[in-house]
Amino acid sequence: MNDRKIYILVVDDEHSILKMLKLRLERSGYVVDIASNGKKAIAMIDENYYDVILTDIKMPEFSGEQILRHVKLINNDTLPVIGMSGTPWLLEQNDYDAILSKPCTTKELISAINQIFK
Ligand SMILES: [Mg+2]
Repeated sequence: MNDRKIYILVVDDEHSILKMLKLRLERSGYVVDIASNGKKAIAMIDENYYDVILTDIKMPEFSGEQILRHVKLINNDTLPVIGMSGTPWLLEQNDYDAILSKPCTTKELISAINQIFK
């Protein structure tokens, strides 16, 4: 691993999940911002630099799908988006760079992020 910090935006409508993911990722050396809904997430994506977005797929109002679309079409299609789902087997074809099942271990989390930067 090189010295450059990796900036991650984590999006989830459940506060406990956001807190847990932030803690785990920071312990692993990442710089983490959190957003509790898709609208906030999109504003943050437009204003800040991130290396990867980690988003819950099912959220009220603004879904992970809408964040993904925003990133891929409007913002910057090179910004990777990892989707998190409690029911990943229900996902049909999707454009996420990776899918993570919820709940996941720290190892699975880090390995999904590492895959992106390989
Ligand atoms: Mg959710």
